[in-house]
Amino acid sequence: MSDFAQSVKQQADIVKVIEGYIRLRKAGAQRFSGLCPFHKEKSPSFSVHAGQQFYYCFGCHVSGDVFTFVGKLENVTFPEAVRIVAQRCGIPLPKREFSSPEQAAEARLRGKLLELHEIAVAWFEEQLASPEGALAREYLAGRGLTPEGIKTFRMGYAPDSFNALRDRLSPIADEETLRASGLFSAKEIGTGPDGQPQFGPLYDRFRKRVMFPIANESGRVIAFTARALETGDKAGPKYLNSPETQLFSKGQVLFNLDKARTAIRRDGFALLVEGQMDCISVFLRGIQNVIATSGTAFTEQQVAILRRHTSNVVVNFDPDTAGANAAEKSIALLTEEGFSIKLVTLADGLDPDRFIRERGVEAYTQALRGARWQADYLIERARAAFPGAAAEQKVKAVNFLLPHIRRIPEKLARDQFAMDAAQKLGIDSAVLREELRQAALKRRDRVETRAASLSEVERILLRALAINDPEHEQARRIATDALLGRPETFEHLGCCAALQALATRQSRDPIEVVEDETQRALLAEALLNEQVPPTLGEVESAIQEIEERAIEGQIRDLRARIAEAERRGDFAELAVLTQRKLELDRALRRLHNQRPSDSAA
Ligand SMILES: [Zn+2]
Repeated sequence: MSDFAQSVKQQADIVKVIEGYIRLRKAGAQRFSGLCPFHKEKSPSFSVHAGQQFYYCFGCHVSGDVFTFVGKLENVTFPEAVRIVAQRCGIPLPKREFSSPEQAAEARLRGKLLELHEIAVAWFEEQLASPEGALAREYLAGRGLTPEGIKTFRMGYAPDSFNALRDRLSPIADEETLRASGLFSAKEIGTGPDGQPQFGPLYDRFRKRVMFPIANESGRVIAFTARALETGDKAGPKYLNSPETQLFSKGQVLFNLDKARTAIRRDGFALLVEGQMDCISVFLRGIQNVIATSGTAFTEQQVAILRRHTSNVVVNFDPDTAGANAAEKSIALLTEEGFSIKLVTLADGLDPDRFIRERGVEAYTQALRGARWQADYLIERARAAFPGAAAEQKVKAVNFLLPHIRRIPEKLARDQFAMDAAQKLGIDSAVLREELRQAALKRRDRVETRAASLSEVERILLRALAINDPEHEQARRIATDALLGRPETFEHLGCCAALQALATRQSRDPIEVVEDETQRALLAEALLNEQVPPTLGEVESAIQEIEERAIEGQIRDLRARIAEAERRGDFAELAVLTQRKLELDRALRRLHNQRPSDSAA
């Protein structure tokens, strides 16, 4: 960890930083708890230790420090996480914080591209208001958009020109940067002497189009969706998107999340629609927790982003496409990731935009309330697709449902789904029922790698070795000496690796030095359950008990070998083993007699 990261870590309060993402409540002297942002849960098992500055989830066993938390949630690299935490805490970034000149150049480029997009979006807005934008204004009005709505989403117009935007932006950025912005196109005209492609002059990518900005989560415009005003071969595709750039990666953006995030948290769910127009239309009529997939299937990154805000999704996809490709894949991915999903079907096959415009927000809210749980929805679809009482139809319906059932992470939900399916499809065949039962059994819960829980003495040692307080330094020293001096004594413990890492940590953070995730979970659990550090006496008797147990283990071992030597009639071996056992018996007795009294502390 760099000096800068170290100093950010010292200044940042992990409780404050995490509270920026999830709600925490005080649960003990040093402990705060809340709903885990990394797995779906209804009662809080996510804990933050204010003193030791780490977090741990008793449900899914994730743990780490402030940087791993931010890194995991924001899906960013370690240096990026350090920067985010520093910014949150108002700690100025040193210039040399970029680990390489390339990284510094990249950050500069990103800054410049954001600036270009900001100027572009304002310029498109101006064009929309100008006489030339009349047709575009007409189009937007025809889609039910008011001037306020247009302003809210910063819609604009790209005029019918190959160089108007280029002329506006070229005084601000060089050709290379303009090219990197994705706002321009250029024809490839050959290959240069260095083997790199060579391009002709830049020209405006978006022409005679209505411009819909795409913002990142903090509301900065990073790309555009552009709709052609004309149809026909000359007009090009109906919708044209910005290409992938340093700012914009299609699979990592959820349309409208910047505006919807507060409402998503408040309402406890996200409304997911397919089209940006659906999203805008629904949002502007007051349903603010709406985001759009923009027509393509969800990516894992998008799911991860969404999970930071909610794990409840109401899906309102176009009925024509529900079940087909993108929509189906998105729902499958959300299911696998443990989201609870409800589906809305709108009357007469309308899409959300048309429905809410024609029937009003009341009717739409009503439809949302009528959303059905995914399982019910799927069973209904299976019934509709394979109607009738014929055995063969029922086999088909069950086969349709099986993959959906297997995808659900929680066993209880799978059981329920399988039972509902059997009942609603009227399945009395034992074979089909068994198939459903097996599907419910199959998927193994992801959260299963749970190390054996800690014994009391292990807890005491872990806590002693994690002591930072100079007042209790002696307890830590005794534990450290024992670990370093007689490491074999501790080998049989489940948390041995953690103990060894802690014994050599010196002034580093306990959570930081234990790298193995399972071991770190054990340590976190021990620390979160503590009120005060263990006393000297507790540590001494814990060490002693562990030593006794180690010797007892060896004695057990010897007994087996002695029995084996007797059976073989190997008297030489027998003598050696018996001698060894006597020594161990004696050592054990000595330990028993030495037991420190509790007053030693
Ligand atoms: Zn968790």
